[in-house]
Amino acid sequence: MTSLRTLFAQASWPGKRRPGLLFWACVISFFVGLIEFGAPLDYAMRVARAKMMSRPASGQIVVIGIDSKSLEEMNRWPWPRGHLAEVLDKALAMGARRVFFDNNMAAQTTEVEDRKFAEALKRANGRAYLATRFVIDQTTHSRTDYLPLPEFSQNAKLVNINGWFNAWGVVPELRYAMTVKGIQAPTMAAMLADKHGPIGASFPVDYSIDPRTTPVISIVDVMRDRVSAREFAGKDVIVAPTTVELGDMVVIPGHGMMSGVFVHVVGAETLRLGNPVNGGWIWIWIVGAIAAALTLRVRQNLPRRATLALIVLGLIVAPVFLEMWLVFVDVSAALTLLGVIGSVRLWSRFRKSLHDSSRTNLVSGMKNLVALEEASVSNGAAIVAIKINNFLAIKSSISEELAKPLIDEFSRRLLVGASDQNLYQGDDGVFVLVLEGAAALSIGDHIDATHALFRTPLIVESKPIHVHVTFGVDQSEERALSNRLGGAILAAEDAGKQGLRWQWTDAEKTANVTRRVQLMSQLDRAIEEGQIWVAYQPKLDLRSNQLCGAEALVRWSHPELGVIAPDEFIRLAEEENCIGHLTAFVLEQAIDMAASVFRHGRRFEISVNLSPRSIGTIAVDSLIYRLLGQGGLPSNLLTLEVTETATMTSDGAFVTLLENLNARGINISVDDYGTGWSTLEYLKTIPATEVKIDKTFISHIDRSVNDRLMVESTIQMAHSMRRMVVAEGVENAEVLHCLRRLGCDKAQGYLIGRPMRRAALLEVLEKDARESLSRFG
Ligand code: C2E
Ligand code: CA
Ligand code: CA
Repeated sequence: MTSLRTLFAQASWPGKRRPGLLFWACVISFFVGLIEFGAPLDYAMRVARAKMMSRPASGQIVVIGIDSKSLEEMNRWPWPRGHLAEVLDKALAMGARRVFFDNNMAAQTTEVEDRKFAEALKRANGRAYLATRFVIDQTTHSRTDYLPLPEFSQNAKLVNINGWFNAWGVVPELRYAMTVKGIQAPTMAAMLADKHGPIGASFPVDYSIDPRTTPVISIVDVMRDRVSAREFAGKDVIVAPTTVELGDMVVIPGHGMMSGVFVHVVGAETLRLGNPVNGGWIWIWIVGAIAAALTLRVRQNLPRRATLALIVLGLIVAPVFLEMWLVFVDVSAALTLLGVIGSVRLWSRFRKSLHDSSRTNLVSGMKNLVALEEASVSNGAAIVAIKINNFLAIKSSISEELAKPLIDEFSRRLLVGASDQNLYQGDDGVFVLVLEGAAALSIGDHIDATHALFRTPLIVESKPIHVHVTFGVDQSEERALSNRLGGAILAAEDAGKQGLRWQWTDAEKTANVTRRVQLMSQLDRAIEEGQIWVAYQPKLDLRSNQLCGAEALVRWSHPELGVIAPDEFIRLAEEENCIGHLTAFVLEQAIDMAASVFRHGRRFEISVNLSPRSIGTIAVDSLIYRLLGQGGLPSNLLTLEVTETATMTSDGAFVTLLENLNARGINISVDDYGTGWSTLEYLKTIPATEVKIDKTFISHIDRSVNDRLMVESTIQMAHSMRRMVVAEGVENAEVLHCLRRLGCDKAQGYLIGRPMRRAALLEVLEKDARESLSRFG
């Protein structure tokens, strides 16, 4: 026998032993039942059932109504008690079994009228019933009891007519008997039905009994003898006000406002049918909870859902049958229980479907790489990336409908000897296979065999399609899954490029790629946040022995990676086409710096390195013109340094740009001169105004004859073509001295100054002006 506790636990999601859905559904719905939160629903359902199951009254109770018509015809109010005496006599004379008065008999009217009524009561000989009642004041909660006048009650029997209203103005239950001023009396309903019950005990009123089927006769018709004796013979009669004008209206479910007497009538008719029982909510709630608990143990979805739906239906229908047996129950708590279970299940199903769809390939339905990154892959497993190298060619040649059959056929061939559980599909012809255990150990053989399978074309709907696949394998143990995955894909792509069938991942290469992707994604933000800044390295004019300018050199102070060398990130930015933004930034800073020195009355040249890749993304020329204009810097104070390899390998557009810039007076310097293959002849073809000899030749001219000869001839040739010569990498005084002798125009290097911040450079320049340099020489 399963304990309730395990039932609760098993109802939770598979694999998790914690208070489950059922537990919480029970807690919530129990409180709903306890605080009667579901009362509106219960009431609505009860009304609906009452209407649906409507049945007629027995007809054994007749109401004599003091209605509007009687008030109109008699034209007198208060209703003289003499009239009531007359009606009592007549009703009994016509064979009425008993006569009940649902009127106030506690107060005196006139002596004559009261006496008339008292005498009639005497004549009735115990067959007349008068009402006792009490009223509880809404504000003070004090109770006032009302009994008929003693002269009346002497000769009449007493019945209580109290009723308790619910929030909808309905009297859902009546009592069997009540005590008023110490006098116990059965209620009118109990007396009418001849049923006895304990004092204060209540019973539910069955509102499926249609109060409108109760015979109602106008009191004036009785008084004017317009009623036949048949109407009363053997029946119980209630004399009561039935018009709105006299108040005492209640809501009868399904019938709107009616006179209060009908509550007693329906109550009596209910008792006549049997012994009505108020079943409350708890029992049906327990039944619902047990049914739900048992159903939740069903593993298959469809039967479980069907059963849950059946339980809900049962909860709705069961009260109908129970009410036939006069058992009245409230099902809102039980329905809440099922509702909570149902909605939580629906919601989690919806979430699961969202989750699944983001983890499958839309075309093939195969799991994608997002799913793989979430999968648990053991350390020893091999991750095999499969790249279809001619994927784009295939994609462009086949129709859309063939895509799925192609992938199906492809994976069938791929999975010979592996389980399909472990195949994932990425984008652009990338698949990933996770091999565990023995397969992972003989990975090379496995891949060679698989590769061989793809030598013959795939046949997709009788169309042969050749797929060229290469593999990348990662078997490293300590790296994160996403790194292993990236590495394997990269290796597969690389194998394709190198004409290999497959290769292992190269951890170093993968790390580089990661760093590269990371850096480039941060570049723009780094510029905004000031991590990127410009350093200035001063240049010395060897004739005047004065600092004549500076080269702008970009710097990246990365908050986590520290200082990143420009060689690294500039090459990256060029390759990833991010260089434009960076060039613009350096130009802005550098021109602004030079312009401010110039405005202070000093001729100062600024050199900026220009990558040919920049012109792809920004309009370098118009930017430069704008910046020069803004700062008021003459164009001949700006030098753009371009490497010879850059000018040789880029297309004509770059050279045209340089020509245009040069025509506007901007200087062009050939950077790193000597490291490329070009000759001075080549210099003629580009609009250079300056040659900057690379530091590798300069740093040893004091020791190496070869280098000195190269530098010397370069200076001579350049001068013969009216080009300036700048030497970079000057680190000691000997080198500087040598350069001076050889007739070099300008020098740059650590000896003259290291690359420095703008403020530091401005200080150096000030000092330079004051001291009129002698230190270099
Ligand atoms: P480069 O244009 O040849 O710049 C000169 C490099 O030599 C600088 O390295 C500089 O710090 C270094 N240097 C200066 N004096 C000496 C010296 O006496 N001895 C030695 N051994 N080295 C010296 P840095 O700043 O690391 O720049 C490296 C390269 O990055 C630059 O070479 C240039 O090609 C590129 N670069 C720097 N800033 C920019 C820029 O704003 N735009 C572009 N496109 N490239 C830049
Ligand atoms: Ca340079
Ligand atoms: Ca250089």
